[in-house]
Amino acid sequence: MKVVIVGGGIIGTMHALLAVDAGYTVVHVERDAAPLSASIRNFGLVWVSGRQSGAELAIALRARTLWEEIGSKAKIGFRPWGSLTVAQNEAEYTVMKEAAAMDDAELRGFNLLDHNQVLSKEPELKGKYLGALECTQDAMVEPSLLLTGLRNYLRSHPNYEWIPNFEVVDFYHDETGNHVTDILGNKVSGDLMAICPGAAHSGFLTEFLDAAPLRKVHLQMGATVPYADSLKHSIADGDSMRYYPAFKDLSLDILPPQSEVASQYKMQLLLVPRIDFSLTIGDTHEYIEPFSHEILEAPYDHLRQVIANLFGAPAPLIARRWSGVYSQSTSQDIYFRKEIAPGAVVVTGGGGRGNTISPAIAEETITSWQK
Ligand SMILES: Cc1cc2nc3c(=O)[nH]c(=O)nc-3n(C[C@H](O)[C@H](O)[C@H](O)COP(=O)(O)OP(=O)(O)OC[C@H]3O[C@@H](n4cnc5c(N)ncnc54)[C@H](O)[C@@H]3O)c2cc1C
Repeated sequence: MKVVIVGGGIIGTMHALLAVDAGYTVVHVERDAAPLSASIRNFGLVWVSGRQSGAELAIALRARTLWEEIGSKAKIGFRPWGSLTVAQNEAEYTVMKEAAAMDDAELRGFNLLDHNQVLSKEPELKGKYLGALECTQDAMVEPSLLLTGLRNYLRSHPNYEWIPNFEVVDFYHDETGNHVTDILGNKVSGDLMAICPGAAHSGFLTEFLDAAPLRKVHLQMGATVPYADSLKHSIADGDSMRYYPAFKDLSLDILPPQSEVASQYKMQLLLVPRIDFSLTIGDTHEYIEPFSHEILEAPYDHLRQVIANLFGAPAPLIARRWSGVYSQSTSQDIYFRKEIAPGAVVVTGGGGRGNTISPAIAEETITSWQK
């Protein structure tokens, strides 16, 4: 059976990987010379800690298992290093205490740590804070290595073909299968097809995605100059608990107001150590289109202030700034899946957890094809 995958981001690439491993012949097309969208602009977090109890946590834990397997066979910088969400005031620490007592806390690998326990695990955190919520299930990959690492692994399979610079402008289904064409009329056909366009909801997909429960979210990000080669966890601040659904039933109402800048730009601090010793930092959230085309400085000043407080030292300078857009499901569904013809699906809308759950999303597609 021949499978066509449209989209070279992490959702498309995970579909290609799991389809090849399941014995399908795979043709994988991408509009750009190399993927440039959300999957290379993100933190690379495999973030189990923030997932809502129930189905969302279950898919994240399944994905976490798959990441471990994939990370052992492809060079993607997978590191199961865990995370520390750091409490800077009593109220945040109280909410973390509640989180560490949740029914599924053990599944997430949650542990409540006091200041000295944090310091012994992460000596760079010499600043002012009360303690942290550790999540041993959180992990990270390197966004700069991820897609090329997976494709290098895929290229070792004779039944995988990668076609960049192929922008799909039309899709049709007939008795011979599912077909996509580019503007020059070049055609790629397969028995089965997964279209994984990320936030490119328009163009040939307009007729299928019109009124679909999807929205786009715009985020600002940055990377510091090389900083600390000893950092061994991804770090979050207490503001992150306001955004992640894992914490939604806890005493968030006791948290003090967010700082003006953090509130204005809907911010949290996430900080991820990279293999070149730089730190990926972010983020902001903009939900209403049209998005700003400008990279604003105020959010970076805020992030550097929080980092300085946690590290007890001046924050490293920012060397690179960028922004990114992801597609997010706005329904109860964890992500968006729609069959547009027999054997052809559109899969997107993984939102801010799209990287985390990508292997499990792909697994659900492959399983549906095998039924
Ligand atoms: C700044 C930022 C930080 C994030 N951090 C995290 C994180 O740490 N952890 C996490 O779990 N998630 C994170 N996310 C979310 C995650 O990155 C996304 O959910 C995920 O990357 C989406 O993958 P995708 O393959 O659906 O989309 P994309 O990465 O956007 O890939 C879609 C691909 O399809 C191609 N394409 C589109 N249309 C066509 C066409 N017509 N023809 C051919 N090709 C086409 C595009 O060129 C693109 O390469 C973050 C997102 C952003 C923006």
